[in-house]
Amino acid sequence: MNQPSSTLLGHPKGLFLLFGTEMWERFSYYGMRAILVLYLVSTVESGGFGWSNADALSLYGTFTMAVYLTPVLGGWIADNILGQRKSIIIGGLLMAAGHFTLGTPQEWLGDGAESAFYIGLTLLCCGNGLFKPNISTLVGDLYEEGDTRRDGAFTIFYMGINIGAFIAPLVIGYVGEKIDWQLGFVFAGVGMLISVAMQLAMAKRYLGDIGVNPSAHGMSTGTGVSAKDRPLTQVERDRVKVIVIMSVISIVFWVGYEQAGGLLNIYAKDFTDRDILGWEMPASWLQAVSALFVVAFAPIFAGLWTKLGDKQPSSPKKFAYSLLLVGVGFLFMVAATMEQGGDLNVKVSVLYLIITYLFLVFGELCISPIGLSLVSKIAPIKFLSLLMGVWFACSAIANKVAGLVGSMIGEGAEQINNAFSIFAGLAVSGFIAGGLVFFMADKLVEWMHGAEDRATVEHSELDQDPV
Ligand code: GLN
Repeated sequence: MNQPSSTLLGHPKGLFLLFGTEMWERFSYYGMRAILVLYLVSTVESGGFGWSNADALSLYGTFTMAVYLTPVLGGWIADNILGQRKSIIIGGLLMAAGHFTLGTPQEWLGDGAESAFYIGLTLLCCGNGLFKPNISTLVGDLYEEGDTRRDGAFTIFYMGINIGAFIAPLVIGYVGEKIDWQLGFVFAGVGMLISVAMQLAMAKRYLGDIGVNPSAHGMSTGTGVSAKDRPLTQVERDRVKVIVIMSVISIVFWVGYEQAGGLLNIYAKDFTDRDILGWEMPASWLQAVSALFVVAFAPIFAGLWTKLGDKQPSSPKKFAYSLLLVGVGFLFMVAATMEQGGDLNVKVSVLYLIITYLFLVFGELCISPIGLSLVSKIAPIKFLSLLMGVWFACSAIANKVAGLVGSMIGEGAEQINNAFSIFAGLAVSGFIAGGLVFFMADKLVEWMHGAEDRATVEHSELDQDPV
């Protein structure tokens, strides 16, 4: 495989191209997401659709689920037909088309405005399916099996995701809310085009030919049988099992984490003292806190994993820590609701939310980049992008469940008691799941068959006969 060898900060330069590509794509995605619900509920006179909150949130839940379900298909297409590189370009262009469709002035569309809106969202789902899993597997392709820089590399990549996610609501949120909704979506489309242009201009130079051919076709097994046609070995089956189990475990994490946009957002709006020297901070600003924490702490986590090298905890142990950290984070929200004592008029310090977000982000850094890294490390090559799609599909399920859990807060006087129960439930599930994963960790590592033995991989084992 032709893979350029020049490095920057100890990593292949291609990592930084993927960082930039994903940063702009996430800028467009999170920017669009930041104004989607606001646009829907805004009145027709103010350029919106005038939907009810409930209808807008329900569509939002379905859309954020669908957007992460399509990666299963997009991953399969890359593995078998297009390869990752072409998938990213086509996916990026589809998403840009989606943003520009949402950004088309309603007066130009007349009666077709609502249909165009749904077409735009569909283009975004299809585009994300082709883009998201495949940009992630490309990062992994830069590293050989057993390379201890892999988790650090995904953590750096994750920082790019969150720089985009942090800037997006500030820029696109501002343009959409203060100037014009459509212009906000157009900005998102332009961000997406910058991402595609970066790939087109620099991929050949910095990525060589990685991801050019579909992975299922490219592998020779040395027996004259292409990897596509040969059955999985026992080792590969065990590794697929680990990916599926770890992806399912991640649902518990994301259900807690995704309260940020829903329940924690409502809690910020209604029950948090956001007064800063007589000025009330918008509740939505707290949405940028997590991304900011990721950007601040990702280099520290990346450095830690790289420094620990072969002494770093295994991926399942990192998953266990992440779940325990969610548990700790929600304890602060439990304390906040206890301070309210059932009184709807008591507003608690914003620090409760900020500390909760801090723990959720510590947890995120122990699971999200690590999960991406794990899939890229142990997935059988012919299923690489498909299994990355499965990883994202679990986020899809979690997004929907998170919405259902968050909506249990209900209305009226019972809200505080309900919030207390939800937060306590999320804390307890984090602790229980974390504890279980901790005890399962050794078994999961065993099923990885040496993939985390740090550069001492038993290649003979990998080459064993299919069963
Ligand atoms: N915040 C990350 C991203 O946008 C995580 C997505 C996910 O897996 N749910 O890529």
